[in-house]
Amino acid sequence: MSETIQPQPGIMDIELYQGGASKIAGATDVVKLSSNENPHGASDAAKDALTRAVHDIHRYPNTDHTSLRTAIAEVHDLDADRIIMGVGSDEVITLLCQAYAGPGDEVIYTEHGFLMYPISTKAVGATPVKVAERERVTDVDAILAACNDKTKLVFVANPNNPTGTMIGGNDLARLADGLPEQAMLVIDGAYAEYVDGYDGCARLVDQRDNVVMTRTFSKIYGLGGMRVGWGYGPQHVIDVLNRIRGPFNLSTPAMAAAEAAVRDQDFVTRCREDNTAQRAWLAEALAEIGVPSDTSTANFILARFASAEEAVACDKYLKEQGIIVRLVTSYGLPNCLRITVGDRASCRRVAHAVNGFKSGAA
Ligand SMILES: *Cc1c(COP(=O)(O)O)cnc(C)c1O
Repeated sequence: MSETIQPQPGIMDIELYQGGASKIAGATDVVKLSSNENPHGASDAAKDALTRAVHDIHRYPNTDHTSLRTAIAEVHDLDADRIIMGVGSDEVITLLCQAYAGPGDEVIYTEHGFLMYPISTKAVGATPVKVAERERVTDVDAILAACNDKTKLVFVANPNNPTGTMIGGNDLARLADGLPEQAMLVIDGAYAEYVDGYDGCARLVDQRDNVVMTRTFSKIYGLGGMRVGWGYGPQHVIDVLNRIRGPFNLSTPAMAAAEAAVRDQDFVTRCREDNTAQRAWLAEALAEIGVPSDTSTANFILARFASAEEAVACDKYLKEQGIIVRLVTSYGLPNCLRITVGDRASCRRVAHAVNGFKSGAA
């Protein structure tokens, strides 16, 4: 470590983000239920578009993402000029922090909120402020009470990861309306497509000057490896973010795959319906074994165990059975395991294994 060459304040406070594991040493037939990926992969239309895009990879990509933004706007009935594309929604979160927060500023996130919020906050030297939830649900009053004249951004994932719970649009509108005037509400809709009839608060964005929505192609669209996400906000915010965004942030193949994916809403509907059915089955199967969970609105279940020791032991047992789930100690939930809702066979396999653990441990 150099004494004289030092990074900006805040950066050395960042703990490295841990992705969901994908391998178990020595095991074959591993099922990965640790990163909330779509068990059905991406739509065939997206894969075909990706294959065709290979012919153009010697060209620099388009810098304004017009074709992709137009497709998103048509499908979701949005204003294409107020969409910004990012390398995953992670990049949109990063850009928001870079543009609106710095040393001396505060950025609010919820008790069991996504760890990219404090990471991106510290990266710009601002101070993350963690606000308590009420029984693993976002607490609007607690957030409003935590606001002050230093608050610049408030991040709420709805549905939230890793709790799987969500709050209503009225509550989010009340939050937006109660914020101090220099603060902005960011509603992270990474799992919005899993909630039938939910627009991710797009209409709230249209009606307010201080609300931004982020969305991703990494979850229901099954394109996590392509790194495509987007934000929708007031024109003044989008204009600011575009000034600091890298002009060539999205690759041509990634844009082509995402555009085909968003136009294939039949695939999205099938995935949502299958997720809803498998999620209900898995939650009930686990409850019968004595492992409760909150009603999930996303593509994972937060399984609660009696203690942190039991959660760790179950995680170890599942790994021995070739099943990878997610310990969420770093999210303040040491007695829980987050289990992605896989396909029918994976759900049966994980429920069977948890049952084996519970009966062996009893
Ligand atoms: C998975 C996830 C994202 C998506 O991140 P990408 O960078 O778009 O892959 C965003 N927010 C939350 C809460 C998530 O769980």
